[in-house]
Amino acid sequence: SDTLRLEGVEKAYNRGKPGEVIVLRGVDLTIAAGEVVALVAPSGAGKSTLLHIAGLLDAPDSGRVLIGGQDYTGQSDRQRTAARRDRVGFVYQFHHLLPEFSALENVVLPQLANGTGRAEAEARALRLLQAVGVDDRAEHRPAALSGGQQQRVAFCRGLANAPDLLLADEPTGNLDPATSDQVFGALMALVRDTGMSALIATHNMDLAGRMDRIVRLQAGRVV
Ligand code: ADP
Ligand code: ADP
Repeated sequence: SDTLRLEGVEKAYNRGKPGEVIVLRGVDLTIAAGEVVALVAPSGAGKSTLLHIAGLLDAPDSGRVLIGGQDYTGQSDRQRTAARRDRVGFVYQFHHLLPEFSALENVVLPQLANGTGRAEAEARALRLLQAVGVDDRAEHRPAALSGGQQQRVAFCRGLANAPDLLLADEPTGNLDPATSDQVFGALMALVRDTGMSALIATHNMDLAGRMDRIVRLQAGRVV
């Protein structure tokens, strides 16, 4: 079955009140297994809202969200949290790594939280850090890494629990163009290697062009 399926997803903030913002007006989007899709939209169009709904962080006002064929509409927060941990990985524009922990530990901790044993978690974390070329920085804290290296570690953390679906919001948006290009290459290699699906929001049309398909968010709909 498809990794992600959004059907008629609607979302507004302050609905029916002063300051109402209707953000999503019936979003339909399907992402097949292994497909990497670019989400392109102007700032304020609702990309973050859409990614949060797709990742079960937020519920739509109406419409359906299916991940791996499982319909999460109307499920409890607890069920959605469990599904999110198992199936979805997030990467943001800023790395949000824990400053007191090493790069390795930042990739180990989400696995421990998900029930993986320490030895297995460390081995997997090291493999991921190797795959993006920062294993030589494994024992360093985030502050001792360059911006590009920090973001590479954040990708590893996002993939730590082997999600089916990666959701990324401007994953290289805070890097200079040359670094962004390299670091994006590392992310794509990681995604392709594992065969996961991804929805990656970006303003950068060069990066978007390296994905399988580009969708646009326009006037509350995906076109
Ligand atoms: P993008 O990620 O594309 O910049 P967002 O999904 O963050 O867009 O926001 C879409 C619209 O919804 C914007 O107009 C934003 O101001 C508004 N918005 C986002 N979050 C809230 C909120 N919690 N309360 C009210 N309005 C919000
Ligand atoms: P980039 O060109 O990727 O921005 P930097 O010039 O920031 O890289 O860093 C170059 C090298 O120095 C990298 O290997 C980085 O890990 C290391 N480095 C950067 N800042 C620190 C620091 N505060 N402590 C230790 N090593 C650092």
